[in-house]
Amino acid sequence: MTDIRALTKEELEAELAAMGEKRFRAGQIYQWLHRHMADSFDEMSNLPLALRESLKERFSLTTLQAVKELTSRLDGTKKFLFRLPDGNVIESVLMKYRHGNSVCISSQVGCRMGCRFCASTLDGLVRGLTASEMLEQIYQIRRITGERVDSVVVMGSGEPLDNYDALVRFIRLATDKEGQNISNRGITVSTCGLVPQMYRLAGEGLSITLALSLHASDDETRRELMPIANKYGLSEVLAACDAYFRKTGRRISYEYSLVRGVNDTPEKARALGELLAGRGGHVNLIPVNPVKERSFARSGREEILAFKEILERYGINTTIRREMGRDIDGACGQLRRSYLESLEF
Ligand code: SAH
Repeated sequence: MTDIRALTKEELEAELAAMGEKRFRAGQIYQWLHRHMADSFDEMSNLPLALRESLKERFSLTTLQAVKELTSRLDGTKKFLFRLPDGNVIESVLMKYRHGNSVCISSQVGCRMGCRFCASTLDGLVRGLTASEMLEQIYQIRRITGERVDSVVVMGSGEPLDNYDALVRFIRLATDKEGQNISNRGITVSTCGLVPQMYRLAGEGLSITLALSLHASDDETRRELMPIANKYGLSEVLAACDAYFRKTGRRISYEYSLVRGVNDTPEKARALGELLAGRGGHVNLIPVNPVKERSFARSGREEILAFKEILERYGINTTIRREMGRDIDGACGQLRRSYLESLEF
């Protein structure tokens, strides 16, 4: 069956025309799906009963089920564990900032990129999410909390550019004026650096922010932390970033997770400064969240501040990621993992 929530307005119009329905019905249905975030065809009260019944026969309507919801007592961050129609579980996070609410969504069940410090990748990739499963994380959070969603970061479990078509479809639907109308500028896609897809994304005519998980200023250290670095060297990845910036005018956000004794020394900071000076990007320093299966430790406060200061001497705009929801397994893939482990008993 066709997944109706993953269709664009034009595709939905074509489907309805094939059913012999009037064009305006497609508009009504689209609004139910993407503005009112309907959970069932029965909610679509302005459609004739017969039409609702034939929609049920023809289409599936992807809806996620919240199986767990945790609220941080430190900062109000909410973490959700959702069950997908096939029984897999994923996690999503709602973060409240002074400038608005942001949702962090997953793009895959698991991941196959193998970054050493990341919990999402420990069991490998199960599958990519559909566009509707990505949208539904936002819709369910809105329905459950009643909160607005101003921005979306695709920084949960999975490598979004390893699920390219579904990702781009998701972005077009999420930014559609007749749907949630989230601004392009409010969407950030984070990648470990899949170079061909970065060039492709630059050509989509979207003005979203691209974040690159850099985590090292030399190839050797990057290869230690991220297997993908064996495939694409730093010079190739940074050239793709430069091309993205030239083509879209959107500055790259470089993510750098600080791992004690591995990539957090003043020497590494200077090398990073050399590498990024003049590129016009922004660096986001993330104190690594230790994952119990791995032995990486986070850098101390002093090292982090010293690292930032060195980058700033190179004229690089640097922020330290404010940690949200530390008390609720805030980091990528950790909640899903603890949930799966608890089922194993
Ligand atoms: N696959 C994408 C998005 C996933 S995660 C990517 O690689 O960018 C979002 C960010 O969190 C990435 O920069 C990732 O490297 C980082 N990350 C993952 N696990 C982490 C951990 N335990 N501590 C700190 N940062 C982590």
